[in-house]
Amino acid sequence: MKIGCHGLVWTGRFDAEGIRYSVQKTQEAGFDLIEFPLMDPFSFDVATAKSALAASGLSASASLGLSEATDVSSEDPSVVKAGEELLNRALEVLAELDSTDFCGVIYSAMKKYMEPATERGLANSKAVIGRVADRAAALGINMSLEVVNRYETNVLNTGRQALDYLADVQRGNVGIHLDTYHMNIEESDMFSPVLDTAAALRYVHIGESHRGYLGTGSVDFDSFFKALGRIGYEGPVVFESFSSAVVAPDLSRMLGIWRNLWADNEELGAHANAFIRDKLTAIKTIDLH
Ligand code: MN
Repeated sequence: MKIGCHGLVWTGRFDAEGIRYSVQKTQEAGFDLIEFPLMDPFSFDVATAKSALAASGLSASASLGLSEATDVSSEDPSVVKAGEELLNRALEVLAELDSTDFCGVIYSAMKKYMEPATERGLANSKAVIGRVADRAAALGINMSLEVVNRYETNVLNTGRQALDYLADVQRGNVGIHLDTYHMNIEESDMFSPVLDTAAALRYVHIGESHRGYLGTGSVDFDSFFKALGRIGYEGPVVFESFSSAVVAPDLSRMLGIWRNLWADNEELGAHANAFIRDKLTAIKTIDLH
């Protein structure tokens, strides 16, 4: 099981310098994996990322949220096509990084919608995810659809909605990505969604209710980690946190990162790494009870 850290804990700029810095800091904080925000896969410096990963020994995953211009759940064929092209380019980047995990809001724009998703938009989203998944399968890449709260998509807000979506897509390499921050807003509790989605759960984000320090908000992490133990989850477990101390021009605004939840990201990262590993160590002993 790989314990990871989202790159935005370290920097908001993923140019060559930002890539090198975020990889180094992720490794120094004790993580096994870095999740690169691949908002623009066309400009991502793959060669720098490859060499930084090789030097650090870290694995990589990548996530993104589509924009209004690349929304595959749109009814506009040209927008859907632009989204599919972006997702396909992201797959190429992942393949070059020897990465097997592509996740995030890749089935919809990541934004506050003012209307429900439409039938045609949903059909477009599922058709694109199916086609992209076939290319991903040929590259050995798993795609995990991140279930997020109502202010960030109108397509998948709960684990069970994601199961229904997957039933229509029918691709073995497409799974579910749960995030404790979003679950805390939308789900009935932190245990049932893990059990409900067990067979499809491929990726996990660990975030606090205010996206700051783990253990200082209202997320019931004990129930969540017990649920991961109950289903024998072995996939990536990735820390995600945002503060206005580190700003990515577009992403931070979209996520509503207006306040400083922390200032020292080295301390934050080391704390999160220990927090997650401690929980996972403890839940293993439940088998002995
Ligand atoms: Mn997340």
